[in-house]
Amino acid sequence: MKNGKVSYPYQKVTDFFVQAMQDDDIPPWEKPWISNGTSTHRWNGKEYRGLNWLMTLSTGREGPWLTRKMINAAGGRIKKGEKSIPVVFWKISGYKVKDEKGAETDEVRKSFTMFYYRVWSLEQTTVPKSKYPKWLKEARAKNKPKKNGKALAKSVKESTMAFVDYIKREGIEVKEGSDRAFYRPADDSITIPSESQYKSSVEYVRTRSHETVHSTGTPGRCARFDYDARINPFGSEDYSKEELVAEIGAAMLDAQFGLRRPKVDRNSAAYIKSWAKRLKDDPKLIVSAAQRAQKAVDYILDRKFDEQEPTNGSD
Ligand SMILES: [Zn+2]
Repeated sequence: MKNGKVSYPYQKVTDFFVQAMQDDDIPPWEKPWISNGTSTHRWNGKEYRGLNWLMTLSTGREGPWLTRKMINAAGGRIKKGEKSIPVVFWKISGYKVKDEKGAETDEVRKSFTMFYYRVWSLEQTTVPKSKYPKWLKEARAKNKPKKNGKALAKSVKESTMAFVDYIKREGIEVKEGSDRAFYRPADDSITIPSESQYKSSVEYVRTRSHETVHSTGTPGRCARFDYDARINPFGSEDYSKEELVAEIGAAMLDAQFGLRRPKVDRNSAAYIKSWAKRLKDDPKLIVSAAQRAQKAVDYILDRKFDEQEPTNGSD
């Protein structure tokens, strides 16, 4: 950060989220997930990840998403008055580390610079149906919104299987039946009320996913706890950052299994106000939280990804 200012893309992204939160009166990470299988996808069928996943999801629009160039190439145009959203990518460059005297050493480190470009949702364009890619037609036919109980039960079951797989792999202890939910780093345990204490299985899973994401913060896993988590961290600045990671991560995790987010019972206006302020005060917060959340989810699901989004809007 130079002169206490963050670079323009960070400000742009933060403004987008703050505006979206105020317009809809719901934080982006609590938006109901649209289960048509395309809402967070690019025109080539690949799904956005991390921040871009959250950004596209938070619009509540169906995807896929296209740049102006892609829209033109597909013989369409942007409908009058339709607004784009920013999505980001990173450019990596190497620099030589300097020693105490300011002379360059042979040690090369990577630096990441964030840029953004603009995309529109397909529904905001006039791209003709004949130009729709094959994957899109297939995804729409396959992913009709799942409303029946059977599909929901299947999603819950798959999410539970992934959870069990993770806690076994990591040797995490799970204590059920308490009336509180929390992760305790001191003995690497997740405490959670039992499923019957919740109004629905989706709400139970939501809480479980939240605590599961917290459990990835330890030094041996994603090493996110930059505070001593054994000291009561509630209310601290770092703790609120970690809360954001857990909320976004839980949303990502639940979406993996097609679970629509339940509405949370709380004073939404106060919640929005407090997060909008935090985001404004630290324009890097949402970017870093979304990245950390994605990393946590990949860790839980034991997946490896090439972290980079394409370096331009052409694919
Ligand atoms: Zn939490």
